[in-house]
Amino acid sequence: MSFTKISEIGEFGLIDKISTIVSETAQQTPLLSSGIGDDCAVYVRDKNTYEVITTDLLIEHVHFDLLTTPMEHLGGKSLSVNVSDICAMNATPLYAVVSIAIPNSISVEMIEAFYTGMKNAAMQYGVAIAGGDTSASTSGLMISVTVVGEVSQQKLVKRNTAKPGDFICISGELGGSNAGLLALMREKQLMLDHMHDEQNQSDFQTNLEDYKDAVSRHLLPKARLDVVKKLAQLDIVPTAMIDVSDGLASETKHICRQSKTGAVLFENKIPIMSHAREIADEFKDDVISYALFGGEDYEILFTVSPNDLKKIEEKDDLTIIGQIKPEDEGIKLADMFGKTIDLEKLTGFQHFIPHKDDEDLADEEDIWGEEN
Ligand code: ADP
Ligand code: MG
Repeated sequence: MSFTKISEIGEFGLIDKISTIVSETAQQTPLLSSGIGDDCAVYVRDKNTYEVITTDLLIEHVHFDLLTTPMEHLGGKSLSVNVSDICAMNATPLYAVVSIAIPNSISVEMIEAFYTGMKNAAMQYGVAIAGGDTSASTSGLMISVTVVGEVSQQKLVKRNTAKPGDFICISGELGGSNAGLLALMREKQLMLDHMHDEQNQSDFQTNLEDYKDAVSRHLLPKARLDVVKKLAQLDIVPTAMIDVSDGLASETKHICRQSKTGAVLFENKIPIMSHAREIADEFKDDVISYALFGGEDYEILFTVSPNDLKKIEEKDDLTIIGQIKPEDEGIKLADMFGKTIDLEKLTGFQHFIPHKDDEDLADEEDIWGEEN
């Protein structure tokens, strides 16, 4: 049997292979409306309602570093990243099951703090924590959360239904999470250097106060359930939707590939957290790379038909950043002078390469395209 490294095909290549193997199983449950490929799987509950379900793993040293992550924040984030996938179907979350594998280094108090954080997030989203599983772990802390939600059949929104001419919108501001992660990683390095400095045994003082907005975007992101509610108030059912877990570039490509379209994004329209801009200046980075490739902002990217454009135009916190195009026009980023660059090739441009430290959280040998 040959041995192909997972890094050779990447996370999405692997998911494609899994999908091919298991696709036949979908026929066994005719009420499963759609499975692998969207933010949630969709099940027909009754003639009016769909049930949606999503699951996400958070693994120590891959997705988080306990040196820089308070347990309460980790609990909140573990739930929020799942609720974000529920929001990405235009649905409302209902209940969650939570499994944890705990190494010896973790105390009872730490697990209590984790669940306190998760409970606080659950109360905000109206989610019940309904069960789970607990195990010892011989390596790091591992967290698996599954959330079930619901949406009326007319309001379900998938990734594969954008049409040329639709406008592309984003909620909130991007780049904050990547900027916060960089500030945290730098602080961690300073702390480790201090610990190893035998000449200087004074207490180490963290200096994250100036970075707290971006840091909290990274440590405790909020799922945009308010956007789902706002869209309902505006009487808008988007034509396609996805949450921004892997960066704007990746999510735009997912919508386009699945909808068989192209797209153009206008660089100067992309809303950037001002604090992220300051941090990027400090790191001598181009902040647009944080928005495009940084990920973990958990904003909602969605498309609307031209008929709905007016309803959005004057609303705060929802920004029109581009337009869906025919597939043969490709997926482009346009600068303020109208010059376009192929988004697929963009990582090759020095100008847009994500900061190296962005991947430092992961064990470098063990990374094969799995993103934070
Ligand atoms: P998201 O970033 O929205 O959580 P992912 O990129 O993790 O989505 O997953 C993309 C799609 O692949 C989803 O529909 C998910 O359910 C599916 N998927 C991911 N990993 C697996 C797996 N190991 N087995 C089956 N389906 C998977
Ligand atoms: Mg998602």
